[in-house]
Amino acid sequence: MGPLQIKEILQTSPENQSIVVKGWVRTKRESKNAIFIALNDGSTIHNIQAVAEPGQFSAELLLSVTTGSCLKITGQLVESQGSGQAVEVKIEDILVYGTADPEVFPLQPKKHSLEFLREIAHLRPRTNTFSAILRIRHALAFAVHSYFNDGGFFYLNTPIITASDAEGAGEMFRVTTLDLNKLPRTDEGAINFKEDFFGREANLTVSGQLEGELGAMALSKIYTFGPTFRAENSNTTRHLAEFWMIEPEMAFFELEDNMDLAEDFVKKVITYALENCKDDLNFLQNRLAEEEKNKPQNERSIPLLEKLSFVVDNPFERLTYTEAIEILLKSKPHKEKKFQYPVGWGIDLSSEHERYLVEKHFKKPVILTNYPREIKSFYMKLDEDGKTVRAMDVLFPGIGEIIGGSQREEDYDKLLGRVHEVGIDPQTIWWYLETRKFGTAPHSGFGLGFERLVQFVTGMGNIRDVIPFPRYPKSAEF
Ligand code: ATP
Ligand code: MN
Repeated sequence: MGPLQIKEILQTSPENQSIVVKGWVRTKRESKNAIFIALNDGSTIHNIQAVAEPGQFSAELLLSVTTGSCLKITGQLVESQGSGQAVEVKIEDILVYGTADPEVFPLQPKKHSLEFLREIAHLRPRTNTFSAILRIRHALAFAVHSYFNDGGFFYLNTPIITASDAEGAGEMFRVTTLDLNKLPRTDEGAINFKEDFFGREANLTVSGQLEGELGAMALSKIYTFGPTFRAENSNTTRHLAEFWMIEPEMAFFELEDNMDLAEDFVKKVITYALENCKDDLNFLQNRLAEEEKNKPQNERSIPLLEKLSFVVDNPFERLTYTEAIEILLKSKPHKEKKFQYPVGWGIDLSSEHERYLVEKHFKKPVILTNYPREIKSFYMKLDEDGKTVRAMDVLFPGIGEIIGGSQREEDYDKLLGRVHEVGIDPQTIWWYLETRKFGTAPHSGFGLGFERLVQFVTGMGNIRDVIPFPRYPKSAEF
């Protein structure tokens, strides 16, 4: 349906058949014998070349064919004379849908910085780099749904607006219809949220997990894949204020099953990208190599495709938090006091510690388990010793934590104990607690930050460059 896309046309065998091509001009080049127009419609990283003879079109028309303008070209699909492409279009007619005045159109055929492109997020999908990223992002999302569908999981839509802040207050975006200039007050002078839309305080969700667990206690295996919001004021290359999270939740899965699933899942979706996004990955690999050209040989990262294949082909290293601390205590940077943060049992690993384990010590993805209870969430199942919980974090090179998950506490009394311990009012999650009262079952799950996965697969250094319209502190323009 609709016109043929350039991706399809490039795979068509040229038989001088008439053809219509629609797309945006990447470049126009005029030589003595011909005019070459490179057209792209975003269906592929490759442009189609269209060729006209000098004098075939008026100077006025040719002047409006500039980088960024949008054309409909009618002509014949012929075997290409030049190298670099198999087919090209011999132009018979050009219709200019939209011009792009080169005096003001910001995307010129030259290298633009990623920072500059973030300021023109409405146009950056028209660059090779961003269209490649967006196509890969799509392929990964498709692979996620198909992986779970094949595995007998059901896609569960958990709420975006939530009244529970069980994951930790202070990081949430408030949702309200109250008039901020005329806030209703209680007798004590506090804001009266009874008058707000939901009759209580409401926020944007930081995770679909708690509701996901309710689904798993009925459908056995569910997953969520939806937007998640965190108002953390962290200006890092790995945090967004709005990101997409994938959260499978499985009844009858113990921690080992959970780790097996997490590892198999990321390997399968990366494999899907390797098999289906070859051209785009090659393009990004070359882009990265170009970027690192001036670095000394030993500081260059391994080529993107090699890195992805390595992750797919090798088992992840699995060890406990306690074992990881021992490794860190024996490590060179610790002994030479090179770590910025202290190491010791009980610390929340900082990213320098995680990166040491993944990039220096094991040189592959790592799954850390059995963290101290004090640094993990209340819903994680207590180990027998009562000191650690059945948590698992998957750590990736260059990214750090890509997955956080655990076996969930299924024992009502232990869970309630933990709820009190961390200071959550049990009334606010009575429905969550009830799953442990009525037909409780061992179960597990995890959360994968989709953008961190896209970041890893595309090799992009900044998470703001792997989502079409990034949200971060002081930025919500587009
Ligand atoms: P981090 O320690 O890296 O801030 P977290 O421990 O707060 O992450 P979880 O609450 O475990 O993260 O969320 C599960 C996953 O969601 C993480 O493993 C990560 O991939 C992703 N994630 C968390 N916060 C963000 C964010 N602000 N932007 C993008 N992805 C995120
Ligand atoms: Mn985490």
